[in-house]
Amino acid sequence: MIETKFIEKHRQDFDSRISTTSDQESLKQLRIDFLGKKGCVQALMKELREVPREQKQETGLLINEFKQHVNDMLRGKEEELGKPASHQPSKNETFDTTLPGRREITGTLHPITQVMEEITAIFMGLGFQVEEGPEIETDYYNFEALNIPKDHPARDMQDTFYVEGETVLRTHTSPVQIHVMENREPPLRIIAPGKVYRCDSDVSHTPMFHQIEGLMVDKNVSFSHLKGIMNIFLQEVFGKDTKVRFRPSFFPFTCPSAEVDIQCVICGGKGCRVCSQTGWLEILGCGMVDPAVLKSVNYDSEEWTGFAFGLGIERISMLKYGINDIRLFFENDLRFLKQF
Ligand SMILES: [Zn+2]
Repeated sequence: MIETKFIEKHRQDFDSRISTTSDQESLKQLRIDFLGKKGCVQALMKELREVPREQKQETGLLINEFKQHVNDMLRGKEEELGKPASHQPSKNETFDTTLPGRREITGTLHPITQVMEEITAIFMGLGFQVEEGPEIETDYYNFEALNIPKDHPARDMQDTFYVEGETVLRTHTSPVQIHVMENREPPLRIIAPGKVYRCDSDVSHTPMFHQIEGLMVDKNVSFSHLKGIMNIFLQEVFGKDTKVRFRPSFFPFTCPSAEVDIQCVICGGKGCRVCSQTGWLEILGCGMVDPAVLKSVNYDSEEWTGFAFGLGIERISMLKYGINDIRLFFENDLRFLKQF
């Protein structure tokens, strides 16, 4: 026979035990004692069978209510004990809102990318459009259309990577000129920045490097236009007082051709190791587009003339920042790259 007092006594017993429970182990034991197979609640349920029919419902409700109470209390205690100690700040702990936050470590643009973007912006300001071409080229676009036939000695100037048969990794960005002229009528003003490949590696050469090619074709374009544009460009990059000189040179796809020097940025023209005591640094190659090149793209060379130029981004970056080994650009050492 279960009396209400009897259940009430169990309840008081449970309440007093849970109020002193302060660790997971004793909480586990408490759960076993009251909700386990041989626990208090099960024992009450067993006894319920002996209760006279007319009292069964009332007693059953009391037992259920008690079970629910035990469950709720155990869950509450479990949550309370489950919280890690750090979530309960001690009384002498304070939060200093004046401390600076932790900054994210952000990357920077690669120096080559920076210089490439700077040069591109200068030419875009002069009305040039940016064009791109494939890095794998056919022999025709890389050599023949640029007036470099198979037996031409100029092929020895460039150590070519052959892919297979007639395909090569482009040795310069000049083939982009041909693609553009084949697909467009003059007048045009374009620059073509991109990667080029040559079988060469030392302190001033890497098998992959970057060039920017430039081309302008219009009526009455002369060598003085070329000189003017090159002067503006070099003074933008190296400073307004930079002295520039043109030396006669040879390239198969331009005639006349010139190599352009700037006054040595290291010694200011006095002569040093970098400029081999000459006071000048070779910076780019250029010239008037050879009529044979215009002919290969079906431009009338009587009506149209043009100039082209090509420059190495690494060379310009090295002189601009005083870097003495080209390979530093491609080692991806963050201590080096973070300086730009
Ligand atoms: Zn010098």
